[in-house]
Amino acid sequence: MIGPTKADLLEWLRESRPARLRELYELADSVRKERVGDAVHLRGLVEISSHCVRQCMYCGLRQANHDLTRYRMTREEILECARHAEVLGYGTIVMQAGEDDGLTADWIAEIVRWIKRETRLAVTLSLGERPEDELLLWKLAGADRYLLRFETSDRNLFRAIHPSRVGASPDRLTLLKRLKALGYEAGGGVMVGIPGQSFESLANDILAFRALDLDMIGIGPYIAHVATPLGSGALRPEIAASAQVPVSEEMVYKMIALARIVCPDANIPSTTALATLNRTDGRKRGLKVGANVVMPNLTPIEYRRMYEIYPDKACIDESAADCSECLRAQIRSLGRAVGSGPGGRGTAEMEAAIVPERSSQLVQIGI
Ligand code: SAM
Ligand code: SF4
Repeated sequence: MIGPTKADLLEWLRESRPARLRELYELADSVRKERVGDAVHLRGLVEISSHCVRQCMYCGLRQANHDLTRYRMTREEILECARHAEVLGYGTIVMQAGEDDGLTADWIAEIVRWIKRETRLAVTLSLGERPEDELLLWKLAGADRYLLRFETSDRNLFRAIHPSRVGASPDRLTLLKRLKALGYEAGGGVMVGIPGQSFESLANDILAFRALDLDMIGIGPYIAHVATPLGSGALRPEIAASAQVPVSEEMVYKMIALARIVCPDANIPSTTALATLNRTDGRKRGLKVGANVVMPNLTPIEYRRMYEIYPDKACIDESAADCSECLRAQIRSLGRAVGSGPGGRGTAEMEAAIVPERSSQLVQIGI
């Protein structure tokens, strides 16, 4: 397939006519169905630590936010969550945290080894920008996947909102390439509506998804947090008002749909941040425009509020079992199936190449 050009992507990102958007969403949904099937994979999310040494200008976990009570889960608590993930029928556990030096490489490796020995779960890590020897150690311990959103492909904006660590690690795009080289399934992604983010940079983000050949693509709205420089307005990246991407559900749906069309066999979640913008059916709508993954929260309730990346997060008070039931009901109501097994990239029931009929549809709608 000849993919959409940057000009095509820009046109779609600026599109507002409902009939045209319906066409885009229907195409993305049919590409999803053909390439990754009807299964929606459940990834149990455990937010293992809210400590963070970084100062990302957008995130409530940034080190300088002293209003937050910090926690770090114990090994036993994490293992209990892994057991729970199996009981609830999930195929994957995602261990996510701030960039926390207290999570030592050996300690994480030991937990990964235990989970791989005692359960059938795939293990996804999302622990920030860690040194390559640690990433290798965790891969050898059995970790399967690593999530590291690059947030925006606009280098100037990224530098402004994501100060480097002292002694600077490589940038996130480079790290994603290293993760793939180490044998991880690599997940990148972006926030939509960051102050200073242009439509052009969103189009570049989609091209970067393709260039990096990402296995997983996380796309969610940017949600302002007043305890951060970006959310309080203390940092105002300059951009013309007409170029600024709005924070809206529609923008996120367009990005999910375009990501699905451009990267047809990637795993794409319908995110909690999207469900936070539209609690009634944000998650379901994400699944209808190209997404095929959801991430039910398994973090013990007493810690959830302390993992405040942004305010008013959806599903914060639901027990893990309620969260599982609610998501299963949403999946069933869409006529889709709950995925079984680890659900890695390329394990869909249907891996058909794009059929001729589909290619002609792509041409018809200018893609
Ligand atoms: N520390 C790890 C990292 O930075 O990759 C993992 C945890 S971090 C909280 C996970 C993701 O949360 C980030 O990659 C970012 O996209 C998202 N995030 C942070 N602040 C956000 C905000 N204000 N609105 C929406 N998403 C946000
Ligand atoms: Fe820390 Fe990740 Fe938040 Fe940045 S985005 S402050 S690294 S938790």
